[in-house]
Amino acid sequence: MVSKVRLFVDHPLGEGQTVPIDRDRALYLFAVMRLGVGDVLTLINGRDGAWDATLIEGSKRGGLLRVNVRTGPQIMPPDLWLIFAPIKKARTDFIVEKAVELGVARILPVITDHTNEKARQDKLQAHAVEAAEQCGGTYVPQVAEVARLSAVLDGWGDRRILFCDESLVGTAANLAALTPGPWAVLIGPEGGFSPAERDRLHAMAQAQAVSLGPRILRADTAAVAALTLWQVTLGDWV
Ligand code: SAH
Repeated sequence: MVSKVRLFVDHPLGEGQTVPIDRDRALYLFAVMRLGVGDVLTLINGRDGAWDATLIEGSKRGGLLRVNVRTGPQIMPPDLWLIFAPIKKARTDFIVEKAVELGVARILPVITDHTNEKARQDKLQAHAVEAAEQCGGTYVPQVAEVARLSAVLDGWGDRRILFCDESLVGTAANLAALTPGPWAVLIGPEGGFSPAERDRLHAMAQAQAVSLGPRILRADTAAVAALTLWQVTLGDWV
């Protein structure tokens, strides 16, 4: 069976609901995916699970769906955040996509002392939506506004930080000390963390510095590796 098209909509989902389709989505459904009136697809909205819906009206300018029946529960990720510094666009997109697939609750792009690249929150959020549609997820992590790492740390609460510190390369990963609870994985930019940032993080009681093995990883690899390690140790993969 060909798997159904999955579409994220920012709209309540329940039996009999009608959901309008905007122009961009209509182009995708009708022109790209070649769907037509009567076809059934899967809708998610990040909170109500997965639903079958039938296309009841459609043109390249818009359309309407009718929600039929719930086909899957809402599945929330563990309470894990990813804080990362933007790198080149394609690699930044990769980090967001993989974070959604691997399962995070929230994504925080931060500007660090050695960050040279910019990122746009709206573009990254759109990537997170696409990744959720694609990986069969029912949850879309919120992408926070881009902020300075120092400002994010100023307002930091009790959540623990898995500080991936490249200066520990080659030492033991030290994952045995991870205890359950809310966590954030922190990955630096290609230029790594500045001495001031490293000092500040090492002084924070919430932060636990870890090594990701005997080699320096690129930031995108490091994000995937650290999220995987956390998921295997404390997350919903166990
Ligand atoms: N330019 C830096 C490397 C930065 S790698 C240098 O040569 O030292 C980008 C980010 O990936 C780092 O800031 C860190 O968060 C993470 N990272 C990469 N390899 C790592 C390792 N072996 N241990 C811990 N963190 C690592």
